Amino acid sequence: MNSIPVPFSDLLNALSDWFGVSARVLPWRSEPSPYRVWISEIMLQQTVVAAVIPYFNRFIETFPDVGALAAADTERVLTLWSGLGYYSRARNLHRAAKILNESGFPQTRREWEALPGVGPYTAGAVLSIAFNQPEAILDGNIERVWSRFRCLPQSSAYKERLWQLSRFAIGETVRIGLQPSIVNQALMELGALVCRPASPDCNACPLAPRCKARLRRTAALYPEKRRRAAFKNLTETVYVYRLSDGRLWLPPSENTRRWRQGTRDFPLCENSRWRSFVRFAGEFETVHVVTNHKIVRTAKIYDLSDETPLTAVEEAAFVADLTDLPHNAACAKTFANGISFPKTTAPTGELLSKSFK
Ligand code: SF4
Repeated sequence: MNSIPVPFSDLLNALSDWFGVSARVLPWRSEPSPYRVWISEIMLQQTVVAAVIPYFNRFIETFPDVGALAAADTERVLTLWSGLGYYSRARNLHRAAKILNESGFPQTRREWEALPGVGPYTAGAVLSIAFNQPEAILDGNIERVWSRFRCLPQSSAYKERLWQLSRFAIGETVRIGLQPSIVNQALMELGALVCRPASPDCNACPLAPRCKARLRRTAALYPEKRRRAAFKNLTETVYVYRLSDGRLWLPPSENTRRWRQGTRDFPLCENSRWRSFVRFAGEFETVHVVTNHKIVRTAKIYDLSDETPLTAVEEAAFVADLTDLPHNAACAKTFANGISFPKTTAPTGELLSKSFK
């Protein structure tokens, strides 16, 4: 005889209780204002919680409210973002701050989705977590939970079926008097802590009584693998100019790759004015992976003689460290290697022809 399935509302109650005792203490949870939730959700896009925490704390300390963020200059915002990657997020965040500072924090999905850098997930997250509105959300963690819960195959309807489950859950949440803010956060937390990618802890899962993947022992098969976009290999050469005091040349706005715009990086072309004053010290390679791009970077190191004629602007772009500059991970790696790379002892003219052939 078939047993009666556990009502979905019971699962939501169990999920809500589980969150009450299992939720991690996170800085944006202690005071879930719209500003703090919005900042945390943008930082959490494609970035894990542990990496975000120190950035979030520094950001909030420097820009405690949207007015402070809107008034900041972009270079300062990008400096605080340095190392977090996907710098378009920081540029969009700054543009959106200026709008929010003028118009206030909206309370509709349509208005949130009209802001730079805000998609359906972020809009739903801010509205449900900060305003407790019955808005559905779907991130990578929730996708994993739902795809296993229903054993959903990849198909053209896959994403819509996931959203339907999120909308159904939030509808039931309201119907039985639970908080949308709690249930949405609980679903994300469940994906992060229990329904983990490699080893889901089904025994601890509040959704277990109705989970198809648990019953069929097929959790490892979901979410089904999507065919990945082909990996693109790129190469680039950057020029690292050093002064005798060890400072390196990092002129503003030199790197034009889409995902690095606004951050400082080493120039992609040589400086022809300095040709007669440089010695080639050598070169090294570093490898960087950004989304589906693998970039092999060759850095050519040149030591400038003390007689090199420098304009005031050029002189100001030589730096000893990256502390107060917006920089990307590739720049940081090149900088560290460039600083420690052995100096050449050859006379200027001797290696000049070699370096600029
Ligand atoms: S029962 Fe297991 S597979 Fe199903 S949602 Fe829970 S943790 Fe994931």
